[in-house]
Amino acid sequence: MQFLTSSLLELITQTSTNLPPDVRAVMAQAGGLETPGTQAAQALEIIAGNIDTAYEDEAAICQDTGMPTFVVHAAPGVSQLAIRKAACEAVAEATRRGKLRPNSVDSLTGKNSGNNLGTETPIFHFEQWEEDEIEVKLILKGGGCENTNTQYSVPCDLGPLGRADRTLDGVRKCILHAVWKAQGQGCAPGALGVCIGSDRAHGYELAKAQLFRTLDDLNPNPELASLEARILEEANRIGVGPMGFGGVVTLIGCKITAANRLPACFFVSVAYDCWAFRRLGVRLDATSGAITGWLYRDPDRPVEKLAKSEGFPLTGREIVLTTPLTEEAVRALKVGDVVLINGEMYTGRDSVHTYLMKNAPPVDLDGAVIYHCGPVMLKEGEQWFTKAAGPTTSIREEPYQAEVIRRYGLRGVIGKGGMGAKTLAGMKESGAVYLHAIGGAAQFYAHAVEKVLGVHLLEFGVPEAMWHLRVKDFLTIVTMDAHGNSLHAEVEKATAEALAGLTQA
Ligand code: SF4
Repeated sequence: MQFLTSSLLELITQTSTNLPPDVRAVMAQAGGLETPGTQAAQALEIIAGNIDTAYEDEAAICQDTGMPTFVVHAAPGVSQLAIRKAACEAVAEATRRGKLRPNSVDSLTGKNSGNNLGTETPIFHFEQWEEDEIEVKLILKGGGCENTNTQYSVPCDLGPLGRADRTLDGVRKCILHAVWKAQGQGCAPGALGVCIGSDRAHGYELAKAQLFRTLDDLNPNPELASLEARILEEANRIGVGPMGFGGVVTLIGCKITAANRLPACFFVSVAYDCWAFRRLGVRLDATSGAITGWLYRDPDRPVEKLAKSEGFPLTGREIVLTTPLTEEAVRALKVGDVVLINGEMYTGRDSVHTYLMKNAPPVDLDGAVIYHCGPVMLKEGEQWFTKAAGPTTSIREEPYQAEVIRRYGLRGVIGKGGMGAKTLAGMKESGAVYLHAIGGAAQFYAHAVEKVLGVHLLEFGVPEAMWHLRVKDFLTIVTMDAHGNSLHAEVEKATAEALAGLTQA
């Protein structure tokens, strides 16, 4: 099968860079639903522009390209080993080209393999079928939304929603609770795959498999179809909104299946995917491996631009700050301010924060801004270039952030999804702010990087290293200020109240 590797490389590239038409259609619609001028509307505008840029430049929509998961259907006699080998070669090549971020980390040593290959990565599901051709589906689902997957063992108590029983209404409550619990951390608006029943492990697998359904399909089971529609309508009444900023677009899809269960068990497994809902598929000639057709694509529907204007329209009310930041400038900021950062900043996420708790930083962080980001970087000659650089979920640094701010004099933390009470108190005490970038907008932010000035701690792997960047007009929104105010805490409280109003069957 001489074309197999190149066909799978094309599948990976297209999946990472061009959202399927059903997702594009829903995101285009979402853009018109939020009130113009709100943070939610701004987030959707940036997302729309990011989707366009990724398509035009054939670049990763989001820097987190997840754990590539292939679902393969092949006739008996087709070599699964050949397909696996070709897919691994394609994954390594896509990583080398910057279409995938090196995401495969040894769980014991912490070492990143650098090419997305390693024990049980990528993930394969092989199934036989009676057709002549091979079908390969691929989903790229990043860590932020993967961390918001959840599973309920029913009956259970769901706080504002009360008790969930072993009924469809109990299932409804679990799903709404999962949406509320995710807030903006999975880069809302999101889409859900849900499995009712099965055992714990298979339930999660079946939930994720629901993400291969298109957002506009109709569940053949009328009861589940009606539950899906109800969840979509109710979840969008809770008010989490894009990025958890508050708003009307929280969920863009909900797909539910049911599987038999043990008498003693009743699980509701929820797979949360973000707006950067990257799934695609191909049909391949079983002899040559050449692509004979695309799944989820509509040849009659050309890719249309999503953004209403070129670039992000600025209002003139933005606050422009140049790093290093002073305490005075930071204390003058308040929740809701839109801030454009110019100058130098450093990336730092899980490994860097753990390191900084035990070791002095390799650079002076006094007045600095740290960016929770695991970028896609490529080296050309001696120079590194930023290929994708959206924010990662900040809450993972909650155990460390306040101490890192206090110890080293950081004035700004850029990330997404917000942080908790400990960081908020630390920011008030030390004089620092949380600056929310738009989750998944990896091209938007990569274009704000003027130059990669250097890299420290590269032994942690590309996503976890401390990258030294020079940025221009790097757009953020203050969502936690130095006066103890947090948009995230406000939205969580308001949405809990809205959730409590949905207890009725
Ligand atoms: S859009 Fe957000 S949740 Fe989705 S993969 Fe990117 S960073 Fe993760």
